[in-house]
Amino acid sequence: MPQKELPFNLEQIQKLVEKYPTPFHIYDEAGIRKTVRELIRAFAWAPAFKEFFAVKALPNPHILKILKEEGCGADCSSLAELVLAERAGIIGPEIMFTSNDTPWQEFVKARQLNAIINLDDISHIDYLEKHAGLPEIVSMRFNPGPERTGNAIIGDPASAKYGFTREQVFEGFLLLQKKGVKRFGIHTMVASNELNADYFVQTAVMLFELAAKVYQKTGARVEFANLGGGIGIPYKPEQKTVDIVAVGQGVKKAYRDIIEPAGLAPMSIFLECGRAITGPHGWLVTTALHKKQIYKDYIGVDACMANLMRPGLYGAYHHISVLGKEDAPKTRVYDVVGSLCENNDKFAIDRPLPEIEPGDILAIHDTGAHGHAMGFNYNGKLRSAEILLCEDGSTRLIRRAETIDDHFATLV
Ligand SMILES: *Cc1c(COP(=O)(O)O)cnc(C)c1O
Repeated sequence: MPQKELPFNLEQIQKLVEKYPTPFHIYDEAGIRKTVRELIRAFAWAPAFKEFFAVKALPNPHILKILKEEGCGADCSSLAELVLAERAGIIGPEIMFTSNDTPWQEFVKARQLNAIINLDDISHIDYLEKHAGLPEIVSMRFNPGPERTGNAIIGDPASAKYGFTREQVFEGFLLLQKKGVKRFGIHTMVASNELNADYFVQTAVMLFELAAKVYQKTGARVEFANLGGGIGIPYKPEQKTVDIVAVGQGVKKAYRDIIEPAGLAPMSIFLECGRAITGPHGWLVTTALHKKQIYKDYIGVDACMANLMRPGLYGAYHHISVLGKEDAPKTRVYDVVGSLCENNDKFAIDRPLPEIEPGDILAIHDTGAHGHAMGFNYNGKLRSAEILLCEDGSTRLIRRAETIDDHFATLV
């Protein structure tokens, strides 16, 4: 069975725990930088490529600054995410505002920052104009509906709430031109946590063909195609990282075959990946508190679903390493659980693991995206600290843990 790697060992974590008690999430700066460089290199052929990191995956300004240094922009979908991007020094067309069911105040903020606005619905053209004015450049999110099948997390496009129908895309571009908008973009995102490289190439083909039709039918010349996020990561040890070079080459071929003959070149290629950039480079570190034997064997840890919701929410697999016992035989089968009064507060069910004793430190893998960010305070659980494992091997607190006073701060 293939192993999953850790950039730290038991001794390093024991030292860290003296200063920052568990649970906490720790992120590996070197890994994040390496992954984003590989992604950008895979699209080096494109006339203008930009990765807009999906802020919701890991909304911490220290991480956004690292990604900005690597040349990324920010994909924001809420007011708080816009403000975070701004505080990390990412402004103007370095921000892609891809929201849905958008409150007007958020459009106003996006306009103030001069972000690229990617509309989710045809009615938002008038809504945006009325509340914030139409910007020079406008993008639209396409939902292919029954033309495309999606996957488990995002669901089938036909029942997904996002985007414009094909007909609405044409109507939208006509309407925008009538209102004087001169620069255009197009976007789609139809999968989440998808591991098949070919799926992303098919998505590019679909969007490029649409851009070509839009130009033919409406005269609107799309200047960028935003292929969204959704590139998956190997949560399970036997799964493989998406071959990003193959995605880049496949998209390049589609660009040559569709965009160039359509007269749309040069056109920029954008991505909004979150998970694929930071997901594999985060770990939730937690200490075993209790061992319980009833009808099944349980290990109770000091983290809970409030620190990492994916297993409870989607039955998602997150690999677990017991620090110092990485190579020990997996002789036991445990449910690894948190303390919420909710029976789906389980990080693992029937998981073969080495014998665990109270006090053992566990690293739950792949929490660098949609991990801490999805946290909540049910049962009065406090949200954990976030720590950066810097490139030089030092560690830095990039978000402190919540205190009980934080939790009560909003009570009147
Ligand atoms: C969530 C989201 C992303 C990022 O998705 P990942 O699976 O983390 O790559 C990008 N764009 C939009 C519009 C999203 O909602």
